[in-house]
Amino acid sequence: MTRPVTRIAIAGIGKIARDQHIPSIAANPDFDFVAAVTGHQAPDGIPGFRTVAEMMAADPGVEAISICTPPRGRLALVQQAVDHGLDVMIEKPPAATLSEAQAIVDTVAKAGRVLYVTWHSREAAAVEPARAWLEGKTIRRVEVNWKEDVRVWHPGQAWIWEPGIGVFDPGINALSVITHILPRPLLLQQSALRYPSNKPSPIAADLHFEDSAGVPVDVFFDFDQRGPQTWDIDIDTDGGQLKLSLGASKMAVDGNPVDLADDPEYARLYRRFAQLLKTRTSDTDLTPFAHVADAYLLGRRSEVGAFEE
Ligand code: NAP
Repeated sequence: MTRPVTRIAIAGIGKIARDQHIPSIAANPDFDFVAAVTGHQAPDGIPGFRTVAEMMAADPGVEAISICTPPRGRLALVQQAVDHGLDVMIEKPPAATLSEAQAIVDTVAKAGRVLYVTWHSREAAAVEPARAWLEGKTIRRVEVNWKEDVRVWHPGQAWIWEPGIGVFDPGINALSVITHILPRPLLLQQSALRYPSNKPSPIAADLHFEDSAGVPVDVFFDFDQRGPQTWDIDIDTDGGQLKLSLGASKMAVDGNPVDLADDPEYARLYRRFAQLLKTRTSDTDLTPFAHVADAYLLGRRSEVGAFEE
């Protein structure tokens, strides 16, 4: 018996849609990429439409949509999608504000459709092994260093500097990992945000959390890292030192590398979406985004030099 294939559209044909979503959908037998909602050019061989309504008028058989636009304005897109009966998957971060993210969750639930709020870094190879390794151990301290050069990873993307984004665009990936592997909720204690004099969002952030048992979790984000790039999480426990590196794709215990399965993040995301569709359940964890909102609520702001592209 052949499996039912979900006919899926993508909204926003930018870097992440082209680099990851389109190839991952193509490699997944549970999906068929049939349409794009785009203000520009649809990928070769795929019909493009300006709006969800135009797409559904032309092809009423579209069943799901994967939203790869920048975070601002997604509620309107999601509302249109569920008005036309579509199930929805959204890229991180889920929205521009916490209220909008919650409204997206509520809107899809009210419509009785499936929503997958994705966190691609949670699908990195070391995340589940790290979570399993930490079980039963006493955690003493956690340090996150997530430092990359925005010029390399987001060349010319104006939206990355909109208020509320900046260094939290990559930083939220680290928050999505630690909120998944650590056993207790995190509570923000201090937040220092450094704003370039010519930008409305921070280029660096130092966050100090404690978990609900008082374990310190220090987080350092930098979007102006030249030379080697760093996406590390170090966890000191009574059973040894755990290190996740390269965005949690590598893992070492007391300096000894651990063998990990090679299973790409976006392949895992689409397998998970297929599973959610099959069981008609949603996955809507907003915790990493709530921590970003907290970082702004408690943020002590300072100004640094102008950002030069
Ligand atoms: P991007 O290259 O700028 O592409 C975003 C696309 O969204 C644009 O090409 C455009 O698609 C559409 N769009 C709609 N409104 C827009 C607006 N106001 N400004 C710019 N584009 C608009 O961005 P991206 O890097 O793909 O990132 C998109 C989302 O994926 C973000 O939430 C980001 O955090 C997330 N993400 C990105 C990466 C990465 O490596 N870049 C990795 C993981 C997650 P059309 O041309 O079709 O109109």
